[in-house]
Amino acid sequence: MTPEALDLAALRPRLPSPLGAVEDERFTRRGLRLLLKRDDLIHPDLPGNKWRKLEPNLLAAAEAGHRALLTFGGAYSNHLRATAAAGRLLGFATVGVVRGDELAARPLNPSLARCVADGMRLHFVDRATYRRKSEPSVLRAVVTAAVDGLPVPRERVHVLPEGGSNSLAAQGCTALGRELRGAADVVGVACGTGGTLAGLAAGLAPGQRAVGFPVLRGGFLAGEIRALQLAAFGGPRGDWRLDERFHGGGYARTTPALDAFAADFEDRHGLPVERLYVAKALHGLTTLAEEGAFPPGSTVAAVITGRPGPDGAGGPGGERQSDSSSR
Ligand SMILES: *Cc1c(COP(=O)(O)O)cnc(C)c1O
Repeated sequence: MTPEALDLAALRPRLPSPLGAVEDERFTRRGLRLLLKRDDLIHPDLPGNKWRKLEPNLLAAAEAGHRALLTFGGAYSNHLRATAAAGRLLGFATVGVVRGDELAARPLNPSLARCVADGMRLHFVDRATYRRKSEPSVLRAVVTAAVDGLPVPRERVHVLPEGGSNSLAAQGCTALGRELRGAADVVGVACGTGGTLAGLAAGLAPGQRAVGFPVLRGGFLAGEIRALQLAAFGGPRGDWRLDERFHGGGYARTTPALDAFAADFEDRHGLPVERLYVAKALHGLTTLAEEGAFPPGSTVAAVITGRPGPDGAGGPGGERQSDSSSR
């Protein structure tokens, strides 16, 4: 397959993704119905919101004649893995700019090893530079260094932002909202960059609302989601809000209570619970149900945005930290 003739249907995505009710007494006790929206089943290598966000970007890259994809992520980034897999399946070269130059000297973790096995070239940058990558001059320098020696000229390299969240990605995620029309009163979703929530909210029908659970600390996300909606749709869309209480200490961090919640949810409902994002959203939604946040009679849908990663736990596994030192 070549990028010029991009046939994403040949990858056989499972769309619309399955939607099913599960029996959970923490919801039924409150007169609520719980649905699971199984975006994790969309594609084995490009699961969940990663498919929805990448699809329009891959089409745009092919349209522009681009031959390589370059993007950004942390050491456990689901987006880096999905981009690497997309490159392998569709014939793009891929470059991953990874936060943390100290990682270059260490054995690759299972997530980055999977990226490399899929043909991705990794370029490690120090955290200070990584943080400044939205400044045009910093971005230019990082991209130039990252593509040095790549058998694709710079003008044929398609640059995607961290997490893949740009206007096209948000537009791609409106399909998630449309698939849920008429099915739920409230939809809960985990948020990293917020691109998925931005599109989901825009795709829902009037009267439906979305609640996002940021996995990062900081309280900066609402502004970024508004900016994404402005860029993607020309203004605010849909009824959405954030609940900032369930990040568990920050990105890739967890607490014993969150781990216990996720293991228990897996036992109850027989699905693997990805720990970086999905566990936090399910924990948030369940807590809101128990707090009486939803009127009895409501149907609540939880978006299962992804699957556990190659280390089996969907996260840093044994290296996962639960202290609150530097991110
Ligand atoms: C990337 C990811 C998210 C976050 O999506 P955003 O659009 O960045 O908010 C949520 N869940 C899973 C499983 C992911 O891999």
